Amino acid sequence: MDFGIQGKIALVTAGSKGLGRGCAEALSAEGARVAICARTTAEVERTAQEIAAKTGHEVLAFTADMSKPGEIDRLLASVREAMGDPDILVCNAGGPPPGDFASTGLDAFGPALELSLMSSVRLTYGCVSAMKEKGWGRIVMITSVSVRQPIPYLILSNTARAGLAGFMKTVAREIADSGVTVNAALPGSHDTDRIRQTAVKRAEAAGRTLEEEMTESLKTINPMKRMGTPDEFGALVTFLCSKQAAFITGENVLADGGAYGGIL
Ligand code: NAP
Repeated sequence: MDFGIQGKIALVTAGSKGLGRGCAEALSAEGARVAICARTTAEVERTAQEIAAKTGHEVLAFTADMSKPGEIDRLLASVREAMGDPDILVCNAGGPPPGDFASTGLDAFGPALELSLMSSVRLTYGCVSAMKEKGWGRIVMITSVSVRQPIPYLILSNTARAGLAGFMKTVAREIADSGVTVNAALPGSHDTDRIRQTAVKRAEAAGRTLEEEMTESLKTINPMKRMGTPDEFGALVTFLCSKQAAFITGENVLADGGAYGGIL
């Protein structure tokens, strides 16, 4: 199937590893010209080279921290100068620290919202005008299954993702007749560094090895008894960016191997 995104300019933030990298690879494999960013210059440059070598398409690397508004502005200016205005925007960032109501102070909410809500809001403000002028655009926000069902001990993330879902739906409907779609992709458990780091902490607390902890958690993680892969997640996001997905906007699309038990 031709997804109709050959030559389109795609910006994937937080794209050097994990789900962001999965999205960048899948978009590049479809012929998009991809820009990725992350905080660690050497790593994001290496990832860009690896993806370009694999797909044969241009991938440019930028250094930017999604928790810093000035760096988001600079990133957008640099991408525009090097490649042009993004046709496709995949908003991603690292997640805020874990904690529950009792252990999380009020002062933790500002930075968490800046990282996991405002970065996507800023990126959207920075990209929508040019997309509307072109009459075509795709925005996908990587959020979490917690939009459907908040996850215990992730109060900061749960709060930010729910807010972003509200923003996403509002903008999507407001600009729906412009050719620009706005959606969110909701990961359940996917095998990335972040998930492994969380498993290390759980293993320490339970007195297990990492391998024992991973085996144990895979039994209960979802009915498929396995984690998703960044490739599978990238394929979902790339479909949402395709010409075929033109009639899908304002949606929260879940990829969790059936873990969420609700009907809607
Ligand atoms: P990951 O494997 O740890 O990768 C994170 C990526 O983001 C890296 O490229 C990292 O590079 C970059 N990054 C982190 N903080 C950044 C910042 N402030 N500014 C710019 N780039 C930043 O994480 P992941 O599992 O792919 O998770 C991606 C997102 O999905 C997170 O928001 C996470 O909470 C959410 N999520 C993931 C899962 C899952 O199963 N994996 C489930 C639900 C939700 P640098 O460190 O070099 O910046």
